[in-house]
Amino acid sequence: MIPLELEGKLIGLQLPDGLKRRAAELARELESKGYEVIISADSCFGACDIDYRLLEDVDLLLHIAHTPILKSKKIVYVPYFVDYDTKIELKIEEKRIALISTIQYCHKLYEVKEWLESKGYEVELSKGSPRVLYPGQVLGCNYSVLKKTNAEAIVFIGDGLFHAIGASIYTKKKVYAYNPLNKQLEVVNIENFIKNRYRKISQCFGKNLAGVLVSKKPGQKRIEIAKKLKKIAKEKNIEAYLVSIDDVTEEKLLNLPFDFYINTACPRITYDDSERFSKPIISPQEFEFLLGLKECIELDEIG
Ligand code: SF4
Repeated sequence: MIPLELEGKLIGLQLPDGLKRRAAELARELESKGYEVIISADSCFGACDIDYRLLEDVDLLLHIAHTPILKSKKIVYVPYFVDYDTKIELKIEEKRIALISTIQYCHKLYEVKEWLESKGYEVELSKGSPRVLYPGQVLGCNYSVLKKTNAEAIVFIGDGLFHAIGASIYTKKKVYAYNPLNKQLEVVNIENFIKNRYRKISQCFGKNLAGVLVSKKPGQKRIEIAKKLKKIAKEKNIEAYLVSIDDVTEEKLLNLPFDFYINTACPRITYDDSERFSKPIISPQEFEFLLGLKECIELDEIG
């Protein structure tokens, strides 16, 4: 996993939570090659989440498992790919499909495409905005690979349903989620997700003290959107303040006086983690819907 040669002696090592247990193994490998290693224990939710304090202290930071969002000569992004069988059993009625995946599975999407084309499917595999590196790659905050899709259905290759649900809301098309690890295929149903979002929005109704969360993580920081939301809130007689925050946790929000929060940081905090918070957290688009400025709720995206 580790690149053969690194410039510098003191290496920072940053891994997402799911891979942190491999930290000692990787540090051992690096130190056996003569490098000195400092492991970051802080959060690493994506390439948007660089440990900048550690970066100041080291010659080079190895950021494992994500593709570049923030560019720096001192950051080396090391992808982490999962091997899987690309001859997937796909028996679906739609013949024109778009393939998407998360970074761990993207490297084999061309093979999946070839295989499915040999089975009679017409397969789109598109490149998205600069925030995503590989054709077909989606992030929890970016579905730009599907922006111009003409497919009848989307096929998500990967584990979990979060990105497949996002693709369904983004495209309003039928989405299949195929897990290459257990070879299960399922049709994504977003009904509960949508109901839950409307429930959260309704909890904000009639409340007039809002905190607009602004991330300290450079790759999630959307200060201009936050300022715009504050202005809109004021026009609708809602008192709103910008709240600067790094990792968003219930403990940090607990002592603040706000009735609800509008999250301009990572959209996964809104969509995936909302049950962890006692106060409702809604997206910028949901806030505009709450104020009657949007007719329906749209997916929050970071371009
Ligand atoms: S903002 Fe959230 S979804 Fe987007 S890359 Fe960062 S952690 Fe992932």
